Amino acid sequence: MTETTVNPYQYLFNAQKARSWAIARTSYKERLKKLDKLQSALQKTYKTAIRQAIYDDFKKPIPETDVSEIYLVLKEIKHAKLMLRRWMAKHRVETPIALIGTSSYYKYEPKGVCLIISPWNYPFNLTFSPLVGAIAAGNAAIIKPSEMTPNVSSLIAKIVSDLFNEDEVAVVEGEVEASTHLLKLPFNHIFFTGSPAVGKIVMKAASAHLASVTLELGGKSPVIVDGTSSVKTAARNVLWIKGYNNGQTCIAPDYVLIHEEVKDEFVKHFKYYCDKFYGEDPEKSNSYSRVVNLKHFNRLKEYLKDAKHKGGTFEVGGEEVHEEECYIEPTLISNLPEDALLWKEEIFGPILPIRTYKDLDEAIDYVNSKEKPLALYIYSNSKSTIDKIMTETRAGTTGIRNNGIQYTNHHLPFGGVNNSGIGKAHGFETFKAFSNQRSVIVRHSPGLISLLKPPYTPFVQKLVD
Ligand code: NAD
Repeated sequence: MTETTVNPYQYLFNAQKARSWAIARTSYKERLKKLDKLQSALQKTYKTAIRQAIYDDFKKPIPETDVSEIYLVLKEIKHAKLMLRRWMAKHRVETPIALIGTSSYYKYEPKGVCLIISPWNYPFNLTFSPLVGAIAAGNAAIIKPSEMTPNVSSLIAKIVSDLFNEDEVAVVEGEVEASTHLLKLPFNHIFFTGSPAVGKIVMKAASAHLASVTLELGGKSPVIVDGTSSVKTAARNVLWIKGYNNGQTCIAPDYVLIHEEVKDEFVKHFKYYCDKFYGEDPEKSNSYSRVVNLKHFNRLKEYLKDAKHKGGTFEVGGEEVHEEECYIEPTLISNLPEDALLWKEEIFGPILPIRTYKDLDEAIDYVNSKEKPLALYIYSNSKSTIDKIMTETRAGTTGIRNNGIQYTNHHLPFGGVNNSGIGKAHGFETFKAFSNQRSVIVRHSPGLISLLKPPYTPFVQKLVD
């Protein structure tokens, strides 16, 4: 096929495919150089531009951008640089007696040409962190950032084109249509971060080529508060991560299940910390970002309307909802009937429903009546409560007496389970996601196994017995 008859997506893919063997052969030092280049760009050249682009997209406070978008990616780069030689080496394994005369190892080899599709909520981090793994593992990659954060999307395109040739790393900007075109191509691995609904589309498309997938998805992440540990700490931490990025975080608490005896105490502290964190008017606070766009603002407004209509009690907020700014004040709602929208869909915004329970089984049954969440948080000092929840529920990640910080430990595999995700990421896990683990066995001498060849005499049968 000539250049002119190939669509631009296919053209880019073909260019990367042609180059992928050369990229795969790159040495440890060459990959290190690429990571250095990326590190310097994010740490120095583009730091201010990154802050500005994210602020322009949804008024994210700079300290939040510095930590959750820049620092976390730099940490991934530094860790990959430190570990890369070891990750790329042969990993020897033991030899069972029956295989005496052989030795075995495995080695991580690049998958080839990879696709990274990222969401808008941490648009920088969730594009560049996977890219670190793809580069470290020796792959070519095409990136499709989210169209919902257009300033960041065009900055990502600029940074990547400044640092890499397009036959190595390239960015395709655009909406669903661009994703759809890309998903038709025979990528070797697809690393998708986004909603479970689109995750299913990605997995279906991947199946046409049997591309491997990492699906970093979302869902409704619960918090269980039993009252045996500080309720004040629980309220403070839950509000912190619910306010962070305006609740638009995949591991933000989606709802709270609280023992009925401590609910009022939780509400009191939640109110107190709302004032302390964001002042009397959070709209004026420089620590409170916005809902990303009108589409999501209207979705959240609908949840509030529905909650009001169904008789929910607005313990905190729920009044100040300003369309022109996509602003919704921090809101805590109790006494919501089961058919309320807030119990059905992933909220992904600064609204938190709270539900009381009398005994723990009730809370566990409620969690298990929904899809397996990406995160489940436990505020308790009771070992038996913690053990019971850990044994009787399933979740991608868990925080005990904390929430949200599990994401920041790159030694911990990060990801969901079933509806909340498939595969893990961060540190070595991201490197592994972009690698094929190739097993090798080497014969050094005949050994026992050579005795098992035909003809199967009584002697061979005896050996097998
Ligand atoms: P989304 O699934 O709507 O979009 C993600 C990406 O997929 C975007 O680049 C978008 O353009 C593309 N896309 C959208 N529709 C598509 C389609 N029909 N076909 C192909 N591509 C399509 O997700 P979002 O709204 O950007 O992000 C929010 C979701 O992501 C939430 O569910 C959240 O929990 C989840 N999330 C998960 C993690 C994690 O690490 N597990 C991190 C952040 C966000």
